[in-house]
Amino acid sequence: MATTTSGGCNCGSKETPATPTYPEQVTGMDILVRALKTVGIDTMYGLVGIPVTELAYLAQARGIRFVGFRHEQQAGMAAATHGYLTGKPGVLLTVSSLGFMNGLTATTNATVNCYPMIQISGSSVREPIDLEQGTYEGLDQLNVAKGLVKAAYRVNKPEDIPTAVVRAYRAAISGRPGGVYLDVTTPCLGAIMDKADADKLFYQPVDLCPAMPPAAEAVARAADMLAAAKKPAIIIGKGAAYARVESQLKQLVDTTGIPYYPMSMAKGVLPDTGALSALSCRSTIMEEADVVILAGARLNWLLSRGHGKWSPDTKFIQLDIDPTEIDCNRAIAAPVVGDLASSLDALIDAMSTRKMSMDPTWVPGLQAQTKEKNAKFATRLTANAAVEPMDHWTALGAIKPIMESNPDVILVNEGANTLDDTRDTIDMSLPRHRIDCATWAIMGMGMGSAVGAAVATGKSVVAIEGDSAFGFSGMDFSTICRFNLPVTVVIFNNGGIYNGIGVNMAGTSDPAPTTLDVRARYDKLGDAFGATTYYVTTPGELSKALTEAIASRKPCLIDVQLAADSGKESGHIGYLNPAALEKITV
Ligand code: ADP
Ligand code: MG
Repeated sequence: MATTTSGGCNCGSKETPATPTYPEQVTGMDILVRALKTVGIDTMYGLVGIPVTELAYLAQARGIRFVGFRHEQQAGMAAATHGYLTGKPGVLLTVSSLGFMNGLTATTNATVNCYPMIQISGSSVREPIDLEQGTYEGLDQLNVAKGLVKAAYRVNKPEDIPTAVVRAYRAAISGRPGGVYLDVTTPCLGAIMDKADADKLFYQPVDLCPAMPPAAEAVARAADMLAAAKKPAIIIGKGAAYARVESQLKQLVDTTGIPYYPMSMAKGVLPDTGALSALSCRSTIMEEADVVILAGARLNWLLSRGHGKWSPDTKFIQLDIDPTEIDCNRAIAAPVVGDLASSLDALIDAMSTRKMSMDPTWVPGLQAQTKEKNAKFATRLTANAAVEPMDHWTALGAIKPIMESNPDVILVNEGANTLDDTRDTIDMSLPRHRIDCATWAIMGMGMGSAVGAAVATGKSVVAIEGDSAFGFSGMDFSTICRFNLPVTVVIFNNGGIYNGIGVNMAGTSDPAPTTLDVRARYDKLGDAFGATTYYVTTPGELSKALTEAIASRKPCLIDVQLAADSGKESGHIGYLNPAALEKITV
């Protein structure tokens, strides 16, 4: 008798049942990745662990670039910078509890700075959190985030994920941009749905960042005021850089002849060295201008909140997308609320039928002052060129011509003296090429912003960092190396916070509160991660190193040895200290 193989038995009466088929299924993580791709997210910054590791793997597999960091705060700074430079929200992925909190610092900073970003964080199972029963990484993250970010949402069910992503995206970029928190629970990430049902959830949202044109009366009021001005000026803020209105601003300046003054991150929106740049005439504008246009700039502490040196008679025309910004510190004579592109288009149009009545001495006066101040400033950069170790000015004297002849290199800058002196020294000629510690004047944005800038644009980046500032994010220099990014980090080592000459007044061997390591060899830190590194002590060595580093388009680290007494407490904002150090008695 013939034998049969298993499954082929013909001895029984019934046929073998066919293998059952199940509908194809997807998880919450699948749906989240697809929802992000549907709104155009192509990059995610983050640091993985429970419960988001598989999510990051999936995102990478499906074509979202995943840039993994060593610290969530830096990943968040990268996402924020990505958002600022692209006009699309940068995305940060964090784990629950501490990872979430580390990232939240950056999301809050993004909100303060009007950078669009979305922090997506895994969170633990809800029930034991709500009953405070003590669960793994249990934290009521949504409620912690609320109040610190522009908007915060939680998604509990996979079928809600596409809507949640669209809402988060809209909240991040609509109106005044900011940081949005999206809480995704562990059960939601792991939940399973039939793919056919999930497919029906996705849709292409219409007009994700709608224009918000201003009212015609508001534009007419502003145009009348501007046309009547004798000594007008435009203050350009980073809101204008973000809104990409450089061509409108150029047109307004070209057609009216009004001088402009850029805030720190708006340097380069119009060229710092342009004929109508009043970069060196801040005090004169504050004291003498009769009509000032604020174009995407807030009248906050960086502009003395509209008081201090400002003349009480100055009238402000404020172009801003956020109506609650108007009058927040001082009366605004002509608010123009709308998106900057629409507002500037309308203002240019309105000015085309009006004649300016500018005082003919105003601009020539500012130009003469600019020439005189710039000549005086230039002597600072060379005065101590032969003195070793260098001071900040000597080092910047070496860096200035290199950065200015590479205008398309993005400059990231943080520190106290390193921030102030770099901002004052290096002229920018292209928009969105300067990223710094901005509105809060915080430390600890350097490596993250450098990564975000390089990833978002593909351009070369030079980060000029105070030694203390670098310390906050230094470990993420390794991220620059792992991703082989064209970033050069320049560390100004004066051995301390402000400087390295602090004195411990108790006379013990402990360092003073401001003292770090003036002999630290930061270049060796770069060696650990395979970067090209330099240790320089003279302006000549620094010039050579920076020129080579930029040309290499590879990760580089330059340790610049400064003198410990170079730099003063709090840089330019020492007046904000409650008491001078010398008043302390032991
Ligand atoms: P800076 O520090 O350079 O002065 P701020 O961040 O203080 O800049 O101010 C930026 C301002 O720009 C904010 O008040 C913000 O509401 C506004 N803003 C941001 N994006 C736009 C936009 N697209 N149109 C109009 N205003 C904008
Ligand atoms: Mg220092």
